[in-house]
Parts: sequence; structure tokens; C-alpha cells
Amino acid sequence: MDKIKFAITRFFYGRNGFDALSYSLLGAALVLNGINSFFKSIIVYIITAALIYFGFFRVLSRNLVARRRENTVFLNFIRHVRNFVVLTYRRIAGFRTTIYVKCHTCGAVLRLPRRRGKHTSICPGCGTRVVVRCIF
Ligand SMILES: [Zn+2]
Repeated sequence: MDKIKFAITRFFYGRNGFDALSYSLLGAALVLNGINSFFKSIIVYIITAALIYFGFFRVLSRNLVARRRENTVFLNFIRHVRNFVVLTYRRIAGFRTTIYVKCHTCGAVLRLPRRRGKHTSICPGCGTRVVVRCIF
């Protein structure tokens, strides 16, 4: 049993291995394959095969710099999507009590209490005065 374990370890030495992008590609291929079992589309089958191929290509690749760069880009994209979803949920959930204003200097989103009228707030990130007009 140890011989097999050492052989696998030696095989993966210097290779990229599984990372977030590889897991996501193989997971997406699994989900697509499950959906395609109902529709049996050749196009979805080809996409699934390409996802599996690219996922295992990334796992077995020895070009670590390129694979890590791809993974970093993927993780940044996922972080932006997650932040957008969380912020949108908070905007909808706190619509009656909270107003969200974007700082025009640094781009930070300020979470302010909803009060009617024109107010001035200071961005905690850059110190810029942000004018807030709340109509209703
Ligand atoms: Zn700012």
C-alpha cells in the first residue's frame, strides 16, 4: 500500500495538483453531465469533455506559474461576483433603513442610514466628503 502511495506522490511531484479552478472545472463538468443525461445533447457533451480535459490538464501541468496565474484570476473573478451578490442582497434587505452610496474618489461603497434630504458624509477610506441626496 505504501508503494502505491509513494508512486502517486512521486507522480504529482512538480505538478500543479488540484486547486480552486480545477475543482470548479471538474464540478461544472459533473453538473453539466448530470443535466445532459436528460437532454442528451452532443454540444453539451463536447463542452463537458472539454471541461474535464482542461481540468485534468491543469492538475497534471508542470507550468506552475501559468496555472497559479489562471487560478488567481479565477479567484479574483469569484470574489467580485460574491461581493456583488452580497451587496445586492444587503441593498434589497435593508432598503427601508439603509442607503448605499459609492465614493466617487476611491470607489468604496458607503453604508449610511436612510434619512430624507441632503447630507454630507466622509468616506472612511480616503476622507473625501460625499454628498448624499435621499429623496424618499
Ligand atoms: Zn473614498
